[in-house]
Formats: sequence, C-alpha cells, structure tokens
Amino acid sequence: MKIIIVGGGIAGTSLYLHLLQHLPVPPAPYPPHELLIYESHNPQPKASSSSSPNASSSSPAPEPSAKPNLTPSTTTIGGGLALAPNGMRVLARLSPSLHTAVLAQGFANERFVFRAARGWRLSSMPCTDVRVPGEACVSMSRMGLWEVLRGFVEASGEGKGVIRYKKVVEVDQGEDGRPAVKFGDGEVEEADLVVGADGVRSVVKKGVFGEGFEPVYMNQAGVGGFVKGRLPDEVKKEKGMIFTFGGNGFFGYGSSAPEEEESLMWWSTYHTPSLPTSNDLSIPTITAELRKRHAAWKDPVIQNIISSVAGSVSSIYPTWTTPSLPHWGRGGLILIGDAAHALQPTSGQGASQCLEDGLALSLTLSHYLSKVYNETNESEQSGSVVDLQAAIDATASVLYAIREPRVRKISEAAKKMDRGKGDIGFFGEMIMCGFMWLFGKVPWIGELRVLSSFLLLLRLRFVTIAG
Ligand SMILES: Cc1cc2nc3c(=O)[nH]c(=O)nc-3n(C[C@H](O)[C@H](O)[C@H](O)COP(=O)(O)OP(=O)(O)OC[C@H]3O[C@@H](n4cnc5c(N)ncnc54)[C@H](O)[C@@H]3O)c2cc1C
Repeated sequence: MKIIIVGGGIAGTSLYLHLLQHLPVPPAPYPPHELLIYESHNPQPKASSSSSPNASSSSPAPEPSAKPNLTPSTTTIGGGLALAPNGMRVLARLSPSLHTAVLAQGFANERFVFRAARGWRLSSMPCTDVRVPGEACVSMSRMGLWEVLRGFVEASGEGKGVIRYKKVVEVDQGEDGRPAVKFGDGEVEEADLVVGADGVRSVVKKGVFGEGFEPVYMNQAGVGGFVKGRLPDEVKKEKGMIFTFGGNGFFGYGSSAPEEEESLMWWSTYHTPSLPTSNDLSIPTITAELRKRHAAWKDPVIQNIISSVAGSVSSIYPTWTTPSLPHWGRGGLILIGDAAHALQPTSGQGASQCLEDGLALSLTLSHYLSKVYNETNESEQSGSVVDLQAAIDATASVLYAIREPRVRKISEAAKKMDRGKGDIGFFGEMIMCGFMWLFGKVPWIGELRVLSSFLLLLRLRFVTIAG
C-alpha cells in the first residue's frame, strides 16, 4: 500500500513511526508498503538555544534581530509545549528509546501551580498520572520535540529520504480514482491513502471539504519565548509549571529543558477580538503591549522575564481552532492532528491528541488490512484495489467514531478554561481566584457542574457589566 503523509510535524512523523510498527506485511500479489512524508518547512536550528538574557538578572535586553514568525504551522512558530502524561504514554508504547529521548531533552513536571496576578499562590495540583508506571507532564521546546521525532523517522526503516521537503498545493482524486497530491511545480503523485497531518490550515482538508470548515479565530493571541537563567524554586524544587491568571490576561512559565540547561519557557495570552496583523507583530509593539499588560503583576519572575523579553520572543500566535467536522476523511483521504481538530492551546492536549490519532489510525488500518490480506491468502485470489479502498474507508469511519468524542470533550473543557484568560475585570478575577483556591482545598469541586456553571454565569455577568 502506498501512503503519503502530508505534513511532517508531530502528527505526521509519529504516524509514520506507528505505521512502521503496526502495518502487516503484505502477501503476494500486493507490493511492499511505501510510506512517504511531504513537509513544506525546511528545518531550522533549535529555538531554545537562543542567547537570551538571564531570567533573574537585570542586564539590559539585546536588540531583537528579527520579527517573530507568524505562520499557520505550529511547527514553525517555535515556542514551548508540554506533553501530557497520556501523550508520553503513547510515546512509551511506540518506542521506549523514543520516550527516553523526548524525556531527556525536556523537563518532567510534577505539579501545576496556580497563581494570581496580585501575587497570591492559589493552589497546586499534581500533573503526573496515577497509573503504573506513572508519566509526568514533560515541557520542552517545540523544535526539540520535532528534532527527536524527525531523527527517529530518519533512523528507522526506509527512514533516510522519507521526509521530502516539498509543499503540497492541492489534493484531489487522480485519473483512476485514487487520491493524488499536487505540488507547486505541477508534479502529481498518486497513492492509495493520503493522510492530512498538515495542521490547522490543511490542504488535505480542502481536498475533503472544499472551502467549508475554515479555521476559527478564537479572539485570543499569545506570545512566548525562552529565557536563560537560574530556575525559580517553584519550577526547580517543586518541579512545577506556573499558571498565573489576572483580570486582563494570563502568563505561564516552566522549564523547557533539563535543569542544568536553565532554560525557562514562558507564554502570555490575551484577549484580542481583532485578528493581529503583521503590523501589530513587531518586537517593539509586542514588548510594549506585554509591559503594559503585566506591569502591575506581582510575581518577580514574570517581571524579570518581561524585562528581558525583547531578546527572547520566539513565537506569536493568534489562536485558531478547527470547527467540529462531520467526518475526518473519505475517498482515500484521512485527516489527523490539528488538520482534523486544532484545539485551544489551553487544553494542553494538542500534541498528545496527535500522538493518540497516530496510534488509533495505524491500529485500525492494520486491522482492516490484515482482514484483506487473510482473505486474499484463503481464496488465493489476487488482491484488488477495491479491497484496499474498502479497508481505508472502514478505517476512516472507525477512526472518527473512536477519536472524535474524546477530542470534542477536551475542546469543550478548554473553552471553559479559556474564558479565564481574557479580560474578566476585577470581580471576575476575584471569583476566579476564589474558585482556584477552593479547588486546591477541595479538588472534587471541579467536578460539580452546577457550581462551575454558576460561577461561569456570575463571571460572564460581571464581564458584561464591566464592558
Ligand atoms: C501557542 C501554542 C501552544 C501550544 N501548547 C501546547 C502544549 O503545551 N501541549 C500540547 O500538547 N499542545 C500544544 N499546542 C498544540 C500543538 O502544538 C498542536 O496540536 C500540534 O503541534 C499539532 O501538530 P500537527 O502535526 O497536527 O500540526 P502542525 O504542528 O501544524 O504541523 C503540520 C506540519 O505540516 C506542514 N505542512 C502544512 N501545510 C503543508 C503543505 N501544504 N505541504 C506540506 N507540508 C505542509 C507544516 O509545515 C508542519 O510541519 C499548542 C499550540 C499552540 C499554537
């Protein structure tokens, strides 16, 4: 079977590794499997190695060298991310050595610490899971994760040359009805299956749905980067990621690398109904906005980061999500990762859901292919294209049935959290602080739908009054 994966980000590279592991060996007369990744973005050096000023020093910030990258691809925007325990578990199942390599370049967090902009520490909760063996929530630079995944792809199976750096401009049915990808130079390549792992602005999604189901701007933007310097105690000793909520936005930080590298990743999210344009995205504008937004915030770590921010901004990201889709592909096209379900960054689950997609897709496809191959063996008939297409169609349906409800639930939970990251005013802020404090004392309170809905209503009311 020939499979083209469009997009070599987290979803595309991990899917490749999952497929290598699970696809059954085809009997004659089927040809051997051929797996290819087309990736439009040429690799850049690691983002976290920037010579940013010390987080705890007051040395003047260097002049910015360039504008931050504004691109629809989350791979290219740099910045940091955290892989939740469920994502780490998928990696461990895929390959213990891949799991070890990802862990080795990141930082294993044990707690989430919630703080208020006014300086109060509200609560903290474990972010490891309770299963055995347990997994931590591992924070890292996005580029670091990508480099490890890409290295494993290149080192495995037919690895070298599997990732081809070429942009796909269109996806359609080929002459014999098989899916085909078209490149900028006019070249066309057919396959049995084309997987869209090409992010929130997926070209493969256009092949499936035309112009429908465009990404939705969430009235939110964020900025983030890395600073070098001594790690704060809450990060180093408690192994914590810090989430600070204020009336006018949100600020987070945590370690992005092993302790000895002293690299702190940070991000700040704010409400902005108008989509930022490239004019709003110059380093001086971003820096001025950040200073204004967080000027009164009490945490000295945040103030130190902001004082050195001009040299450390590595990403700026208007938040886009994928609207709920009625299916994730047909006719030999299947969508996974952000192409199928770009989630709010607040969910902390985007990358982990990519990994779960890859595992689910490869297991389902392998199941249906095995059936086709077994039937071919039993009847000693030559395998037909129709059988393969049926296996791919069944895979697409089952993948959606298994995965979509889970992803939708995560997205709905994140939407609730997002409401606490915008402009919520003084009263909204107080209510949120109270709730988070209470949540630390009585964790099951978060399960009470009635109470949380009531608090939400109250908060929305205050926002309306304040606005
Ligand atoms: C600011 C921010 C913070 C986040 N934080 C977290 C976090 O802490 N934890 C977490 O789990 N998730 C987080 N996420 C979400 C996570 O980063 C994404 O869910 C994940 O990266 C999606 O991976 P992907 O491979 O599906 O898509 P992408 O990462 O977008 O990769 C798509 C790839 O396809 C390539 N491509 C696109 N179009 C084409 C084309 N036409 N031809 C060829 N190649 C193409 C792109 O260059 C890219 O490499 C965050 C997202 C953002 C924006």
